[in-house]
Amino acid sequence: MTVPPLFTASGWIEVIVGPMFSGKSEELIRRVRRALIAGQRVQVFKPKLDDRYHKTDVVSHDGKRFEAVPVEGSEGLYAALDRPFPHLVAVDEGQFFDDGLVALAERLADAGVRVIVAGLDMDFRGEPFGPIPALLARAEFVEKLTAVCVRCGAPATRTQRLIEGEPASYHDPVVLVGAAETYEPRCRRCHVVKTER
Ligand code: ZN
Repeated sequence: MTVPPLFTASGWIEVIVGPMFSGKSEELIRRVRRALIAGQRVQVFKPKLDDRYHKTDVVSHDGKRFEAVPVEGSEGLYAALDRPFPHLVAVDEGQFFDDGLVALAERLADAGVRVIVAGLDMDFRGEPFGPIPALLARAEFVEKLTAVCVRCGAPATRTQRLIEGEPASYHDPVVLVGAAETYEPRCRRCHVVKTER
């Protein structure tokens, strides 16, 4: 049994952002796997409400699969943390967490933990999303990923929301019951947000 090397005294924060379909979770998983190969203790979390989005399925290097643990907000995340803290705490769909995620990420990084948060930097309106902007400002390392615009092939930085096939309005609620909703990656030019109600 090899003992993982002592970690550096200081932790840090990494943030992975981009629109839907830009591979944020893939990149998160890639980094998690590297840490697992190094024998580090890792915990992966996602917000509890996340069921309609993709799963974060991490395969550890001994072949065991594990999924991101759903937690109720930043307090739920803190309560679910191993003691002593793991080397790496990874958070997927970070945009759905409360603002407490920012202070928690800072606290963990101060305590020597490597923190990785993946999430949407902008909502379907193109507005900064949840705690992600504050995390971007405080992070040591930031990666902005792009998808491919389905309209013109340019780098897609925005998420287009379509309701019954039509661009969503700025004031449409985030959750619409019974409506057929789809999302697609688009560039700045092709991203459409209707402003009338
Ligand atoms: Zn485009």
